[in-house]
Amino acid sequence: MERIEQIEAMRVSRGAWRARDERVALVPTMGALHEGHLTLIKQAAAAADHVVVSLFVNPTQFGPGEDFQRYPRDLERDAQLCEDAGVDLLFSPALEDMYAPDHTVYVEEVDVARQLEGMVRPGHFRGVLTVVAKLFLAVQPDVAVFGQKDAQQLWLILRMVRDLNFPVQIVTGPTVREADGLALSSRNAYLEPDQRAQATCLYRALQAARTRYADGERNVYVLRKVMMDVVEAEPDAEMDYIEIVDEQSFAPVTTVLRPARALVAVRLGKTRLIDNERLGDDGG
Ligand code: AMP
Repeated sequence: MERIEQIEAMRVSRGAWRARDERVALVPTMGALHEGHLTLIKQAAAAADHVVVSLFVNPTQFGPGEDFQRYPRDLERDAQLCEDAGVDLLFSPALEDMYAPDHTVYVEEVDVARQLEGMVRPGHFRGVLTVVAKLFLAVQPDVAVFGQKDAQQLWLILRMVRDLNFPVQIVTGPTVREADGLALSSRNAYLEPDQRAQATCLYRALQAARTRYADGERNVYVLRKVMMDVVEAEPDAEMDYIEIVDEQSFAPVTTVLRPARALVAVRLGKTRLIDNERLGDDGG
């Protein structure tokens, strides 16, 4: 596995593959790799000749007081996991190479990015879209793979690719979960044992909504209430939002008439967890 830290060197490697007409799939990550990332890597391998994993803990997507400093970092462990997974190139750019100290240009979506996660974490998606655009320019992938786990992020990346005409095909991966339903996340490592037990409430809430949806319930007031009851039963779970949005527009709906996404964001102590499930044809 090739390891590159400089944007310029990344471009040189990419250029060599292009000269041979070989396709490249990128999996952007912030490291602390888990089975969810490895699933995306498998999808990337199936979609292209070469897999590039980027590993960059992006400061511009963290707000003041968020966990940028304590975000888990173990480059050598992640590199070994990538190597074992058959990744061709690990791109881990240095902070100084990605952002000039006086950088002033961002990529911003001005509608959906301000709702839900963007409401609780102002500026978060501006940071995400900016770094993803920069990674696309550095790696110039034919395909990029993102997880459904971050549904709003995925929607915004699809919108950015459309609106800025990025020549990149976006492939999406299903959410990988622990046996008890908790979605894998690098942040799960922060949870104390009692919080870890309560953390299944996100998945249980989503399953409760899917069950009611499968039984014919389409009223979002009722479906949200079903989810809130599950979360509120946990003593330490504080709800940031529980919402149901249209899958196409990501706008909140009052009745589920078309495929939708149920979204849950919960805080357990200092740890924020998000999860989502589809309500639609295959929605239970
Ligand atoms: P992160 O390293 O957390 O920024 O995530 C990198 C990529 O992995 C994003 O596309 C995420 O949506 C995806 N991802 C994170 N957790 C999971 C999971 N449990 N299942 C599938 N994909 C995931």
